[in-house]
Amino acid sequence: MTATTERPAAFNVPASVELELTGKCQLSCGHCYNDSGPQMSHGTMTLDDWRAVISECAELGVGNVQLIGGEPTAYPGWADLVDHALSVGLDVEVFSNLYHVTAKGWAVLSQPGVRLGTSYYSVNAGEHDRVTNVAGSHAKTRANIIEALERGIPIRAGIVRCHDGQLEELARQELLALGVHHITLDDARGVGRGSGGQAPTMDALCGNCTRGRLAVLPDGTVAPCVIGRWLGSENVKAQGGLRGVLSSQAWAETAAGIPPKRTATGACPPNDSNDCDPSNTPACVPKYDVAPGPASLGACTPNDSNDCDPSNTPACAPAYGVAPVPVLLGGCPPSDSQSCAPTETPCNPAFAL
Ligand code: SF4
Repeated sequence: MTATTERPAAFNVPASVELELTGKCQLSCGHCYNDSGPQMSHGTMTLDDWRAVISECAELGVGNVQLIGGEPTAYPGWADLVDHALSVGLDVEVFSNLYHVTAKGWAVLSQPGVRLGTSYYSVNAGEHDRVTNVAGSHAKTRANIIEALERGIPIRAGIVRCHDGQLEELARQELLALGVHHITLDDARGVGRGSGGQAPTMDALCGNCTRGRLAVLPDGTVAPCVIGRWLGSENVKAQGGLRGVLSSQAWAETAAGIPPKRTATGACPPNDSNDCDPSNTPACVPKYDVAPGPASLGACTPNDSNDCDPSNTPACAPAYGVAPVPVLLGGCPPSDSQSCAPTETPCNPAFAL
């Protein structure tokens, strides 16, 4: 499909572009916006196609690109694309499930200008694995989060609420304790496998789509973001490339049809994003650059300022006699001492840093 010839006078250059390299993934998360899994393909974008898009991003003044999927490191040549993006002056985020990272992969990720993003679902291994549908995924992802931290690679994590009762807050506490300070919480979106077979609606979008961000899908389609994938129509492989898409009337109409941000402040809403957490790209600067305070989650840490004595709220304090969540779930979380001692649960202020 080609960009329409009638063009608006100008277009906004996005701060961040999501490059969805592939639909292939070792995991098969139930909420995945992309229906990703081992059976999916890399799409039709060649390595040269992706290199051209990255070059054009730099020429247009895009600040950074995010390699996402699927699992972006499953795409042959992903490391070359990281190198190419760095060579043209772009910052790079690789949003990986961190299920498996090779020695070469660690070397690529350790370069200056490269950041990591990942998804994490629960402090409880079984609960995490039920989201990903792969046994043992929690242990591997957790171990690689620790390795990334030990290597000094900037890393953030997105926690996606997939079902009632999920231990997302304890997951956040655990990540903080491990040393991950950029953590966001989001609700699963009704897109892809997360839609339950229903057609997606605008309710799935945060409102930032096309406003500072966009996505290029594995077939070259340009979409408002990876969540708003069904709204894409133009293709970077058409004559005119990304610039042609952004300056097309079709793109302007797509942007105009997206409801504005839902928060009074205009900031990215707390439930902005899905899964592989695309909405937390730097386009969402208020969330991306500042680790969200626990108060926004109703958490029980020293930073929870609602009552000046947060650790003693009934939900958190061992003294209140509330059964520790691990007991409810049948086991202490990985970061606990296995003793299930209340003082070592993530609600303990000392534990929570
Ligand atoms: S949500 Fe991410 S990790 Fe899970 S299947 Fe989709 S692409 Fe893979």
